[in-house]
Amino acid sequence: MQFDLRQLGRKGSGTLRDEHVDRTFQPSDFAASVVEDEEYKVVAPVHLVMDVHKDREAYRVSGNITTRLQLECGRCLEAFEIPVDSAFELRYVPEPAPTADGGEREVTEDDLTTSYYKGESIDVGELMHEQFVLALPMKPLCSDACKGLCPHCGTNLNKGTCDCKPTWTDPRLAALEGLMKSNKE
Ligand SMILES: [Zn+2]
Ligand SMILES: [Zn+2]
Repeated sequence: MQFDLRQLGRKGSGTLRDEHVDRTFQPSDFAASVVEDEEYKVVAPVHLVMDVHKDREAYRVSGNITTRLQLECGRCLEAFEIPVDSAFELRYVPEPAPTADGGEREVTEDDLTTSYYKGESIDVGELMHEQFVLALPMKPLCSDACKGLCPHCGTNLNKGTCDCKPTWTDPRLAALEGLMKSNKE
C-alpha cells in the first residue's frame, strides 16, 4: 500500500502541489500484512481521506481515517470491536542518511508527527497502522463492567458462574464467624 509521490506536481500545468486522496481498503487488504501478534484486527472497510501537500522536499499529509477494529478483552479474552475515527496531521521528510558516527539522532517533539519517505513514495499501510495503534485503548476492555475469568477454573464470569470459592473473605465476616464459633464452645 504505497502512495506514489511522483504523481504530485505532474498533473496539468505541473504547478499542482496538492493531491486529494479518497480510498477505501477492505479488511482483506490488511490480512496479508498483519503480523501474528498484532493486537488488533481490521474488521470493516477502512476509509482513508487525506490531502497531500508538497512543500519543497517535505510532504504535509492531513486527513482522516475511519474503520472498526477487533480487539481482545484484557480481562475475559473475548473479542470485541471499537470504532476508529481519527484525524491526523503528518509530515514526511526524506529519509536522512545514517550519521557517520552511528549516533542516535536527538528526538525532538516534532518527530512525533514526522515520518520518512523512501523512494518517492509514502507507505500508506504503515501510516494507517500507526493511526490504528494510536487509537487503541491503554487497557482493552469489552466493557468497564467486565467480570473477567475465574482465576481458578477459567469460567467467563460475564456468561456464567462457577463453584469456585473466592479466596478473599470479608475480614469482618471472618471475625463474626470466629465469634460465633467461640460462643458455641
Ligand atoms: Zn471482557
Ligand atoms: Zn471458577
